[in-house]
Amino acid sequence: MSDQPFFGHIIDGEEVPSAGGETFEVWNPWTREVWASAADGQEEDAHRAIASSRRAFDEGPWPRMSRAERAGAIHALADLMEARSDDLATLDSTNMAKPFAQAKHDVARSVHNFRFFADHQRDHTGEVFPMDSGHHSYSEFGPAGVVAAISPWNFPLMMATWKIAPAIAWGNTCIIKPSEDTPASVTLLGRLATEAGLPDGVLNVLNGHGAPAGSTLTGDDRVDRVTFTGSSQTGKLVMASAATHLAPVSLELGGKGANIVFDDADLDNAVHWAIEAIFRNAGQICLAGSRLFVQDGIYDAFMERFVAAAEALTIGDPFDPTTTFSALASRKHFEKVSSYVQQAKDLDGTLRTGGVADDGTWVVRPTIIEGLGLDSAPYCEEIFGPVCVVNRFDTEDKAVHLANDTRYGLNAMLFTENLSRAHRVASRLKAGTVWVNCFFIRDLRTPFGGVGDSGVGREGGDFSREFFTEPKAVVMQIDRG
Ligand code: NAD
Repeated sequence: MSDQPFFGHIIDGEEVPSAGGETFEVWNPWTREVWASAADGQEEDAHRAIASSRRAFDEGPWPRMSRAERAGAIHALADLMEARSDDLATLDSTNMAKPFAQAKHDVARSVHNFRFFADHQRDHTGEVFPMDSGHHSYSEFGPAGVVAAISPWNFPLMMATWKIAPAIAWGNTCIIKPSEDTPASVTLLGRLATEAGLPDGVLNVLNGHGAPAGSTLTGDDRVDRVTFTGSSQTGKLVMASAATHLAPVSLELGGKGANIVFDDADLDNAVHWAIEAIFRNAGQICLAGSRLFVQDGIYDAFMERFVAAAEALTIGDPFDPTTTFSALASRKHFEKVSSYVQQAKDLDGTLRTGGVADDGTWVVRPTIIEGLGLDSAPYCEEIFGPVCVVNRFDTEDKAVHLANDTRYGLNAMLFTENLSRAHRVASRLKAGTVWVNCFFIRDLRTPFGGVGDSGVGREGGDFSREFFTEPKAVVMQIDRG
């Protein structure tokens, strides 16, 4: 019997192996060693998780509880997460080489996801529609049923909680399938849900691969909502699968974010956020500012500081407190990102700094490339790594055109001290989120999602309510006596 950690499924409040005993290896990308194993969910396991969540929804107390009781239970789970925040962060850092301080930040945001949606559903208001006909109507938001949530590996805990929190807050039951690359922290979350006393089946964790674990969930007609975060390619499969039983989908997909720096930007601020936007989490962020556009007048000064700041990042062990940048999350991903760097070189792009670390690690150093064609793969495609492709521009119109000329539209950033320009350009950008003079700041009441290949639908605040409930209109005749 191995003494390595094991991450089972959490079904009906219990941690269980796959019925057939299938497992997969869990890697530590910094040490490049297997450190744990996890249950590899098959169809049978997915059916068991769905049956459990179905039962918990159809017969259990959760959807029938008062809103305040539900909020209390979710806050209790958030309390436990806070108490175990070092453990949760350690699992994400071990599992994907995320610098520990960043992992701790993710845990805090995950806790906030639960607290925010617990309160949002408890305190929400409906709408009343006074009618001239002697009636009045009002809206009511009841839970939708069983939610299948599928999450990626780049923010293992945070992305999962972004889906689980509104789903269960609104009275649904939920099955989360984390990425097969990062099963650890979400499994611990499932254990904590049991400890916090959430009724059995309200939160089930199904570990395993996209197929059969994920695809069995999305294609099953006992599932009422499918919420997915991952690549655009997989998103299309998920949407097609959910369409077989007409389950509404919410898809948060890939990105190729534009970051526009105008001549009148505050240079220090623009450099700081440009670094965060492409090198935080080693660039494995859907919202990364991977296409950087810098106006002619500031280009040389900006680039000099940007390159110096990239070179000042400390590459190392994610648990070393001085580390700000570490390895990519898996060998497969390291090979993918490395191949884009090679393509950029083959296309005669100029590497201002960075490149693939040639030391056997899965590190691609903070990489900044100039001079690539606007139709080249490293410019057009989502690399999902620490690779920034830079171009210059002259006019505002040109910047907007360049930024919008992409299949993606998740987010964009712009840096300017000109207030009118800030509003004007923000409104012209084709993106779900535009950050002005900042990056990565969120208010959970706002819509979050993407345009084009970046997604379908929005989540956040009332947008999450619309998706995770069945809004109902009640029309009453007023008895006028
Ligand atoms: P991925 O699409 O490979 O996998 C995402 C999840 O889908 C995993 O859990 C995987 O097991 C599952 N999956 C794979 N095939 C499936 C199928 N046929 N049916 C059901 N589930 C299936 O993505 P990834 O590599 O884990 O994550 C990186 C991608 O996620 C990037 O494109 C990134 O931009 C995107 N992302 C988007 C957001 C956002 O908010 N828009 C946030 C984070 C990541």
